[in-house]
This record gives sequence, C-alpha cells and structure tokens, in this order.
Amino acid sequence: MNHLDFQQAIEYLQKILPPEEMTRVTQHLPTCTACQHEIEIAQQFMNSPQTLPTPSPNLVNRVTAAFRRKQERLTNRTEQKATLQFDSWSQLVALGVRGIPQERQLLFHEDEFDLDLQVMNDRETKTYTMRGQMLGSFANDTADDLEGVALTLKNKKNGQRRQSLTDQYGRFSFSQLDQSDYELFVALKERDIIINLESLSITE
Ligand SMILES: [Zn+2]
Repeated sequence: MNHLDFQQAIEYLQKILPPEEMTRVTQHLPTCTACQHEIEIAQQFMNSPQTLPTPSPNLVNRVTAAFRRKQERLTNRTEQKATLQFDSWSQLVALGVRGIPQERQLLFHEDEFDLDLQVMNDRETKTYTMRGQMLGSFANDTADDLEGVALTLKNKKNGQRRQSLTDQYGRFSFSQLDQSDYELFVALKERDIIINLESLSITE
C-alpha cells in the first residue's frame, strides 16, 4: 500500500478511516518504519494539550496546517515583543470607575499583526478564560489564511505551558487559567511574537 500521509495518520488515530483502510493500515504499520514515524508525529499533535475554540470538525485541517507551518519555520527565528495598545481595565481605573468588570479587553500590536484578547472571569471556579483573535496579514508568512498558527501560553509563576492552534479565522482560546502572569508566544515563520500579560486579573 501507499505510505500514510500526515492527514491519514491523524484519521487513523481518530479511527475515522474507512474500515478496510483501517485494517490495511493496522497490518502495514508493524512492517514500515516510515509510517510508524508518521503516526508518532500525528500522535504528538493529538496529545499536546490544545484548547480548541470549536469542536473537532476542523481539527484535521488545523493540525495539517500547523504541521505545514512547523516544517516551514526557520530555525534561527527572531523574537519580537508586541506592544499593548489598549486595555479596557486600565481605562476604567483611570476614569475612577469602581466595581468588578466581568471581562477585560486588550489589544496588542506588532509590525504586521494585531492581537485582540478578551479575558473573562469565571467567579464560580475562580479561573479565567482567554479568547483571542489574530488580525492582519503577515507579509512574511506564506500562508494565505490564519489557520494552524501555534500558540504557547506560559504561566510565569510555575512555568507551565499550554498550547493551542488558531482556527481558520485566527481564533484561539485558553480556559481555566489561574491568576498569574503569563507570556503568550505566537510562532510565525520567521519570528516569534511575545505578548506579555502582566496580570490576568480583572478585579484587583
Ligand atoms: Zn508505510
């Protein structure tokens, strides 16, 4: 049989290949290191703790796009900090508004790219949900859409990292975040964008 491509490997792991192909792959796998390797890479993607903005129908596309992006990424990429353009919370404080807003709106800017962030407070679980959307075109990026951009959110207090991939509209989300300082890394082809989130609090 033909060797597995990345998409087939994903579909095999999701057990959504047609039954006769499932059988063929199961028989082929023990004999072929190339396909075992493909399965391994697919497995890594599926096991990485991603928070997906929408449930699975687009998962294969997104992961395939992410894989393509990963292969295109340069090894000696530069890092660039995005600057905070707007923060709804600090504006409220400056205006002397009291009370606890339910959400906080942030806008970050980098050369060719804007990142719109919304932080929501879940009072019951005392955690935060962060939703975001990347806007703008990356002149240096070959992709014609915003799908499959890899994001890493690092908790600066305990070093924990979580990962996510953008959907086709450049959207992503992280949920159940603890109160902490965070760094968000956006992996583009030629550079990493770093977004500093000093505090996720919207109440302090
Ligand atoms: Zn093979």
